Order: sequence, then structure tokens, then C-alpha cells
Amino acid sequence: MNKFYPFDNPPLPYAYDALEPYIDTKTMKLHHDKHLQAYVDNLNRLLENSRFQNMSLEQLIYNADRLPEEISVPIRNNAGGVYNHWFYFEGMGNSKVKLPIGNLLQAINNEFGGFEKFKDEFSKAAMSVFGSGYAWLVNDDGKLKIITTPNQNNPIAQGLCPILTIDVWEHAYYLKNYNVRKEYIDNWFNVVNWEVAENNYNKCKF
Ligand code: MN
Repeated sequence: MNKFYPFDNPPLPYAYDALEPYIDTKTMKLHHDKHLQAYVDNLNRLLENSRFQNMSLEQLIYNADRLPEEISVPIRNNAGGVYNHWFYFEGMGNSKVKLPIGNLLQAINNEFGGFEKFKDEFSKAAMSVFGSGYAWLVNDDGKLKIITTPNQNNPIAQGLCPILTIDVWEHAYYLKNYNVRKEYIDNWFNVVNWEVAENNYNKCKF
């Protein structure tokens, strides 16, 4: 996708049904074509005739709180909505690699005492989000951390480097799992793209 205005919504890096049976085709289609598209359209509308068109998506997120009051919150919500969805979608796939690899595996083992403990802690964080938001694995100055963000807030605004995220807005799972968020989280672990997570981890500067 474009990193600058005008933002676009290219196709997913896999078929809508690629995450079956864990995440259903209809959810993926609506989530990408309707929900993400709305954030892209809103963000472009906000930036139309604006002097902030030269800011990248990450710069908009990082500086949202410092923008003029009338656009600060809408920019945070919609730039976050674009970034967060792409990060979530790109962090999934139907790869045969089902567990962390490389440097990230080592860091997870060091920080959490093994993958199962990490999984447990990450799942609890994702369960703990009240209402709409995300759970994230981030790099905080060389240290792995699990955090949650409300709404479309993004860890970049706190100076953290995102590695992996799960969208726990109800639209991400309601059609398949109804109100059972835990079932969706368990399913999501089967479609995490650990190669992308490893790349993200290695790109974090620390
Ligand atoms: Mn979503």
C-alpha cells in the first residue's frame, strides 16, 4: 500500500479463503473490503486540501496528538485504522511455519520462558481488551512486551516498535465465533505469519 497520501487499499497478500477454517472467508472479505476501505477513504478525505499530505502514515500516527485539535482525533483513528489493519492482515497467512523462528524465537524464549507461556500471556492480553482494540507484541528499546491499545490507537504513538498484532474488534470474529473471543484468539494462533513477525522484529531498531 501507499505510505503517503493518497492512501489505497490493495488486495490482501492471500486469497479471502486462505485462512479457512480458522478465519472465515466472509469475515476476511468484509474486514478488508468494507472496514479497512472505510478507514482508507476517511483518511484520504481528512487529508484532502490539508497541509499534512507530505506526512507518511507512520508520521501521522506518531504526531497525531500534536496536530491541530480539529483533526487530531480523526487522524489518530483513521491513520491507525489503516496501519493497524494492514499490520494485522500482513501478519497472517497459511504458511507451514506455525511457530516463531529465528531471532524472535530466541527473544520470546528469553523474555517469556518459552512459546507456550508467551501464547498464554498474549491470549490473556487479547481477552482483556474491553470493547474494541488490539493486543500487540512490541519491541520496547530491545525488550519484548505485550501491550493492548483501545480503538485504533497504535504503539508507534508511544515510541514502541510493533512486531505482531491481533484485531479484537468484534467485526474480526463475530460472524464465525459470535461473542466467543477466546475461540477466535485460539484460531488466530494457527494463521500467524511468523516469517513476517521475524522480519518486523529484525527491522525494529534498538
Ligand atoms: Mn478490524
